[in-house]
Amino acid sequence: MTDQWEKECWVCDGTEPKAFSHKCEKHDVCIRCGIKRADVEGVPWGTRKGFICNKCQEEKWAERIAAFTEKDFKENDFEYRSDLKCPYCGHEWQPYDVNESTEDVTCPHCNSYMDVDVEWTADFCIRKAKSDKNKEE
Ligand SMILES: [Zn+2]
Ligand SMILES: [Zn+2]
Ligand SMILES: [Zn+2]
Repeated sequence: MTDQWEKECWVCDGTEPKAFSHKCEKHDVCIRCGIKRADVEGVPWGTRKGFICNKCQEEKWAERIAAFTEKDFKENDFEYRSDLKCPYCGHEWQPYDVNESTEDVTCPHCNSYMDVDVEWTADFCIRKAKSDKNKEE
């Protein structure tokens, strides 16, 4: 870390974080457990306020799944929806990349995999017949 980076730390400066704003080494820690970036195994998850280490992220996912209990789970909640609903954590979201039945769709809230069946409903547009069949005896 150089002095340049130290100067750009938004925590030290007391400013609001912007996209890709820097933090000094002292402040660039997991927003949940405070582990230093250098001590994180693998690539941590970025958030607007800083990164979150993989261990904390997994704990967060597990908490969300644990919070969605069996009594919250209603089977007909998961049928014929216009959006997706995670059967593990109950999160609802609009999928932009699921247009046909897909396995292993990932929940953005708890990172669980689910299978999605897409059922297209038909819309009918009716006009008078072009053929002469109506005039036939
Ligand atoms: Zn700082
Ligand atoms: Zn952490
Ligand atoms: Zn979920």
